[in-house]
Amino acid sequence: MRVIPYARQQVSDADVRAVEEVLRSDWLTQGPVPPRFEKAVADYCAVPYGVAVNSATSALHLACRVLGVGPGDRVWTSPNSFVASANCALYCGADVDFVDVAPDSGNLCPEALARKLAAAQRYGALPKVVIPVHFAGRPCAMAAIAELAGRYGFRIVEDASHALGARYPDGRVGDCRYADLTVFSFHPVKLITTGEGGLVTCRDPALADALQRLRSHGITRDPGRLTRSAHGPWYYEQIELGYNYRMTDIQAALGLSQLRRLDEFIARRRVLARRYRDLLANLPLDLPAQDPGEYSAWHLYVVRLADHDIRARVFEALRRQGIGANVHYIPIHTQPYYRELGFDWGDFPAAEDHYRRALTLPLYPQLAEADQDRVAGALREALA
Ligand SMILES: *Cc1c(COP(=O)(O)O)cnc(C)c1O
Repeated sequence: MRVIPYARQQVSDADVRAVEEVLRSDWLTQGPVPPRFEKAVADYCAVPYGVAVNSATSALHLACRVLGVGPGDRVWTSPNSFVASANCALYCGADVDFVDVAPDSGNLCPEALARKLAAAQRYGALPKVVIPVHFAGRPCAMAAIAELAGRYGFRIVEDASHALGARYPDGRVGDCRYADLTVFSFHPVKLITTGEGGLVTCRDPALADALQRLRSHGITRDPGRLTRSAHGPWYYEQIELGYNYRMTDIQAALGLSQLRRLDEFIARRRVLARRYRDLLANLPLDLPAQDPGEYSAWHLYVVRLADHDIRARVFEALRRQGIGANVHYIPIHTQPYYRELGFDWGDFPAAEDHYRRALTLPLYPQLAEADQDRVAGALREALA
């Protein structure tokens, strides 16, 4: 039986040639290709700066660092996400809290955020940073969230791991019109891949500079930043505690080559999403909602069944037929590590209800229509 995964990278001969060229060159890392990849992604997003790193997890960590997140600070994010969206704040010694999601989209709910901010202001416990997550590739209600940022004085990091190529009604995700920083992931299940990899976009040159320094040990050679006069041309200084979070030339070459096909990938994902909508129209499940004018990158196709038991039964029926269904996401606050911090089931009911009913169906550019028909047929049979 041929297995249909829920997601899969598409690697072309051109991608392989691009990587091979780097392997035969002088530089495997810290060479010329990462800056070219950064510029290409930044140009794509219509934003001045892109800083490439070795994963979105690292990108989120650095984003918190450059915004000055530290002990005593609060960072809020969506419970309906991968654990990395919250762990970044804990790396910095800050406290994490969550804002429940909107039931239709699974995205951080601006009304819930407004209520939580009003309460937090009374206790003097406002967040320093809020990290909305564009779940499944559908942009969050960023205008409303940015308006609250203006009123309550927090900074915004968009976790756009699912949303490279998605658009707001008035711009491109990553252009930072609503955020201080936007983070992308290039893990193989995401929109394009570098194997492992991530990237931060921003408009502020000081943030870009800090990101570049922190991804490479906190070291600078910039004469304007040296605290002593240079001992010679070899001289550098470590001026803060950074990391080795660099992206290699090998990864960046793959990313550059993949980026050329991003629009094609998303166009294909959109065709398949429309096909799912038609194929699944009369089944007892909720299809992913979409607003007019909205442009999702369609990273995931997540349907919601009537309840947990039906979801579990359908999941197993699909798996038995070689269909790699998945579930996104187990709410972060219900993970044992987060329960140790004081969170529990019941804290964020909309995210929990989403989790109990969610089922991710296979969606990736080279998914054949016959295979998609097989998925829909198996789903129909399991629900009969
Ligand atoms: C994949 C993902 C991450 C982490 O990305 P890596 O590149 O694997 O570190 C973070 N947030 C979300 C929402 C993701 O889907």
